[in-house]
Amino acid sequence: MIIIVGAGSHGLSLAYHLVKKGYSKKDITLVEWKRIGYGSSSRNAARYRYHFYSKENVEYAINAISYLKKQSKELEYNSLLLRTGYLWVINGEQEYSLFKKLDSFWSSYNIGGKFIECKDNYAYIKFEGQCYLAPQDGAFHHDYILYSYYYSIKDKVSTIYDKVVSLIKDDSKIKGVKLSSGKELYGDKVIVTAGAWSGEVLSSIGIEVPIFPEKKEIYITEPLRYFLEPLIIDSKLQIYFSQTLKGEIIGGIEDKREYKFEEFTISISNAIKFLKGIRELIKGIDGIGILRGWSGYYEMTPDSSQIMGYSNDWPEGLFIDAGYSGHGMMFAPYSGKIMADLIADNYKNKFIDIFSPSRFKLNKLINETLVI
Ligand SMILES: Cc1cc2nc3c(=O)[nH]c(=O)nc-3n(C[C@H](O)[C@H](O)[C@H](O)COP(=O)(O)OP(=O)(O)OC[C@H]3O[C@@H](n4cnc5c(N)ncnc54)[C@H](O)[C@@H]3O)c2cc1C
Repeated sequence: MIIIVGAGSHGLSLAYHLVKKGYSKKDITLVEWKRIGYGSSSRNAARYRYHFYSKENVEYAINAISYLKKQSKELEYNSLLLRTGYLWVINGEQEYSLFKKLDSFWSSYNIGGKFIECKDNYAYIKFEGQCYLAPQDGAFHHDYILYSYYYSIKDKVSTIYDKVVSLIKDDSKIKGVKLSSGKELYGDKVIVTAGAWSGEVLSSIGIEVPIFPEKKEIYITEPLRYFLEPLIIDSKLQIYFSQTLKGEIIGGIEDKREYKFEEFTISISNAIKFLKGIRELIKGIDGIGILRGWSGYYEMTPDSSQIMGYSNDWPEGLFIDAGYSGHGMMFAPYSGKIMADLIADNYKNKFIDIFSPSRFKLNKLINETLVI
């Protein structure tokens, strides 16, 4: 029996890929604490990008986005994949040099962008100076991916709504999970896909995995006519935003917080900071109002990169796929596939070693700094 802990995009994608390999209800149990997509998978900005700082994440993104595009044609619901580009506002010499360096690095992977005079190319931007456009990046709709997976597997796996309070192991092997109801489920493979809560689940048997919750808020304005194509990032104003096809401006602010579990609320002062920021950068939107907002967790790791696979120090049969540090929705289809290959066929994709939990002990950290 395979037990998957957490029905976010990663748990569901894994279940979907296992079902595709012929596994069924008698082989797979999915345990979800609250509801399908309770965690970050229903709370994100649903953007995809190739443009990371580290070569490991650029290479992962190249594979994962190609797979995301392929999957979006196969899935039950239309995931509304749309190429819009990312546009970075360049504030000062230091950022310019950084993007020069990044552009030559990205060009070596054929994903170079271009430096443009911002206001000449985007008449609605007030900023006078250069911007960096990465035209390859884009958007999708996370809910349609999540629920495509769910509807494809709901009758093919057993689903239990309860909280995993502890893993169960003997000396060298995983044995199953204990639920808050007191019930024990037995299985020879347990995969922790519990997003920001994954560290908590693993610590129940003394395994320390560095995944920490950082609360992030998102706001969405009333709709306007559609005019804002790329996702715009401005480090000086500390905002990022884009526009939905319906016309709402959607985005968030850079808000470094202590890593801890907090209530899923939004704060008025942060919402005002967001509104002020978009008004300062974009013409003709004075008086625009916020319709609603929500919050979720970035599942942060010390090198802002995911943790996949297993460690040789762990009980046999225990796996993880979590800690995506704010960029895990776009990676869920590909991660589910390579985790399923590992679990079902014992096939180890090269990324399983690169993103292994052992990298922290071995001091093989990934140099990722481009978290948006
Ligand atoms: C504001 C915001 C914006 C984002 N923007 C983007 C973006 O534009 N692009 C992108 O790619 N990513 C983005 N992300 C990140 C992305 O949403 C996450 O990386 C991704 O959804 C993580 O998926 P997951 O399945 O690992 O975790 P989650 O979706 O958090 O799922 C974990 C599940 O496990 C369950 N669970 C937890 N503990 C237990 C337990 N003990 N027992 C049983 N079940 C349990 C939870 O209820 C939850 O359903 C954003 C995130 C946020 C918060």
